[in-house]
Amino acid sequence: MGIKVAKFGGTSVADALQIKKIKDIIHGDKEIRYVVVSAPGKRYDDDSKITDLLYLCKTHIEHKIPYEQIFQVICDRFMAVEQELGVDVDIKGELEEIRKQIEDGATVDYIASRGEYLNAKIIAAYLGYDFVDAGVMIKFTNRGKLREYLTNDLIASTLEKHEHAVIPGFYGERIDGGIKTFSRGGSDITGALVAKAVNATVYENWTDVSGFLMADPRIVKNPKQIETISYMELRELSYMGASVLHEEAIFPAEAARIPINIRNTNRPEDRGTMITAKPSISDDHIISGIAGRKNFTVIALYKNHLANEKGFIRRLAGIIEDYDMTIEHIPTGIDTMSVVLDNRVLNGKLEDLVEEIENQLRPDRLDVVEDMALIATVGAGMAERKGTSAKLFAALADAGVNIRMIDQGSSEMNIIVGVENKDFDTSIKAIYEAFVE
Ligand code: ASP
Repeated sequence: MGIKVAKFGGTSVADALQIKKIKDIIHGDKEIRYVVVSAPGKRYDDDSKITDLLYLCKTHIEHKIPYEQIFQVICDRFMAVEQELGVDVDIKGELEEIRKQIEDGATVDYIASRGEYLNAKIIAAYLGYDFVDAGVMIKFTNRGKLREYLTNDLIASTLEKHEHAVIPGFYGERIDGGIKTFSRGGSDITGALVAKAVNATVYENWTDVSGFLMADPRIVKNPKQIETISYMELRELSYMGASVLHEEAIFPAEAARIPINIRNTNRPEDRGTMITAKPSISDDHIISGIAGRKNFTVIALYKNHLANEKGFIRRLAGIIEDYDMTIEHIPTGIDTMSVVLDNRVLNGKLEDLVEEIENQLRPDRLDVVEDMALIATVGAGMAERKGTSAKLFAALADAGVNIRMIDQGSSEMNIIVGVENKDFDTSIKAIYEAFVE
C-alpha cells in the first residue's frame, strides 16, 4: 500500500467543525499516514487568521502597545476547539508557555509558528495520531536557508518510527535551535517536503476550492476547472498570480515526481486538480490557464547602434542589481531594449533608478510606462500548434486592447502580453473566450 501525505490549509482547520470534516477524510483513506496542518484560518469572510493575529501581537510589542487583548482572542479560539473536540492536550499550559516566551522577547518567527504548533497538537490528539514537531525534522542554516538534504534525511528517519503522525506546517528550526518560518502560506512547502521524504504516491493538498480554475473567477464568470496540469505550467501560472498553492511547494514534489492533488475539504467528492510531470495535450486542450498581475513599470531605452554595443545588457542589469531589484522581463529590439519591473520591487525608487540609467548608459531616449499589467497564457500544447499567438492577438485586438509588450518564454508554453492596467480584465476575458469557450 502506498503512502499519502495530506496537508490541510487554514480554512480546512479553522474550527472544530472543519477539523471533524478532515477526520472523516483522513480516516476514510487508509493510505493517508502523514498529515500536515496550517494554523486556524478564517471561519468566515471578515474573520482573522490566527497567523495574522500572532504577527499582530509581535507588532504591538515592538511598538510598546499592549498585546494582551489580541493574545486573548487567540487563546479563546484554541481553547474552544480543544473543548469542542473533547481532547485534552493542556492548551492552557501551552498558551501560558507561549505568553512567557513572548514576555521574554521571543522572535517573530517563533511567535508566528505557534498557530501551526498548537493546531497540530490538538489535531493529533483528536485523530489519535502522534504529534511530531517540525523543528526536529525541518532544518535551516543559521542564515535561514533550508538544508534540503539534511531535512529530507531527518523526515525519513523520524517518520519511519511513526505509523501515523500530524506535523505542524510552516516552520522548522535553525541549526542554533531558533525557530524559522517559511514565507507566508509555507505549510504547502512542509507538506511537499514530507511527501518527498517518505516517497509518497501522492501529495494531497486540501483547501477550500476544488482545484485550480483556468482564470480568476472574479474576472471570468464560472471559469472551467483545470483537471490536470504539469508542474511547469503551474509554476508559470502561480508566478503570474494564480494562488492556491505556494509556488515553492512544487519543487520538492517535482524532484521526486510525486503528483500533487489539490482537493476541497468542503467537497471531498470533487476530484480536484492533479499536478503531474506530464502535461495534458489534446486537440481541445491548447491552453491550461490564464493568469496575470497588475502594476508593473517598463523602462524603455532607445539608442542608435545599440545592437552593436558590447555589455549593454550587463551594465543595465548591473545598475538594477545595485538597487537590489529583480527584473521580470527584458524585451529587446534592434536599437531598443526595455526592462519590466514589478512596482513592488521599485518601491518608490523609480526616479533614482532612471537617473542612474541615464547617467551610466546615455540612451538617446528613455521612456517610462507605468501602470502596466502582464498576462500569461500558459499551455504546454502551444508549442506544437500553429496559430496560437495569432488567435491570442486577434482576440485582444477585437476587444480593443492595445498590446504594449509581447514575450514568449523559451519553454514555448507561455505567451506573456503587457497591457495597460485598465485593460487587464477585458484582456483576460477576451483570451478566455477565444480559447476556452
Ligand atoms: N499559517 C501560515 C500563513 O498564514 C502558513 C500557512 O497557512 O501555510 O501564512
